Amino acid sequence: MKRKVLLIYTGGTIGMEKNYKTGSLVPFDFSSVFKRIPEMNLLECEVSVYPFKKPVDSSDMGPAQWRMIATWIYKNYKNYDGFLILHGTDTMSYTASALSFMLRNLGKPVILTGSQLPIGDLRTDAKENLLTSLYYASLYENDQAVIQEVAVYFEYKLLRGNRSLKYSAEFFDAYQSPNYPIIGQSGVHLNVDKNVLWRPNGEVELDDYLNENVLFWRIFPGMNFESLLEIKTAEAIILQVFGSGTIFNNETTQNVLKELRNRGVEIVVISQCISGGVHFGKYINSDIFTRIDAISGKDMTAESAITKAMHLLKNPRYNKSFSELFSKSICGEITEDF
Ligand code: ASP
Repeated sequence: MKRKVLLIYTGGTIGMEKNYKTGSLVPFDFSSVFKRIPEMNLLECEVSVYPFKKPVDSSDMGPAQWRMIATWIYKNYKNYDGFLILHGTDTMSYTASALSFMLRNLGKPVILTGSQLPIGDLRTDAKENLLTSLYYASLYENDQAVIQEVAVYFEYKLLRGNRSLKYSAEFFDAYQSPNYPIIGQSGVHLNVDKNVLWRPNGEVELDDYLNENVLFWRIFPGMNFESLLEIKTAEAIILQVFGSGTIFNNETTQNVLKELRNRGVEIVVISQCISGGVHFGKYINSDIFTRIDAISGKDMTAESAITKAMHLLKNPRYNKSFSELFSKSICGEITEDF
């Protein structure tokens, strides 16, 4: 039986070609993708293409587009066996993380991919990324989807979406998930590590709630920490601190953090290191976080912490505290016993 995949094309380098006269990259008509990659006709799945009316650079993607994609997937959930989103690489991990929180209990694959070079380029990485993603998006065993979560496929690796991050603007191997094992790898065979896959516990649900009053703040030596008080709209701050959770051990820092907490601002602490994470109490310079009831983002990526905060902050669906909700894994984005 031929599996059906819905391919949502949003934009990014993957859908561009070089204008050899001017040298600049311009989007091509994505509905002609079957002509450009005739191999797509040889796949054992049936692909329907649903392009954005106006393809966007992924730096223009945000909550409005995430909601749109999540809703398309939800509305078409029964009609397709898998979903593939072609996306610019710059913010793909944000979209993947946001979708993982908005589309709960997926029983089918939602794969995101893109490329570093356009499809029309002779040395392009787009073809492999696209074709193998289609394989993963249509991979079934005993009538069950093998992947039942949001994942990013890039350069032979399938990663959990909300654990992924773009770490290179240069290499084809541009994505990593430093704090979670690779869930699938494509070589001569298409492999999946079944021990590390996410599994739903209920029926698929859409919750497209996103609160944009989330601020991300990376500290640095010598910064004016008090300037944090000037942003009055922030209701949750993701504070990206040093190493395993340290910050300046001085009075100003304490006063600023206390003042923010008095205002009711939620503070989530994550690490500037891409691998490992935050352990409150490991150093004296993290004790302040325990005193002000900050939340440890443990081993989460910045992309995941930001979109999770957007999704949970004052979400009317829940009656638990933000802190309690944030500390729990929704779909494998955090190691609870880190
Ligand atoms: N600027 C592009 C984007 O993210 C880069 C890419 O697709 O690789 O849309």
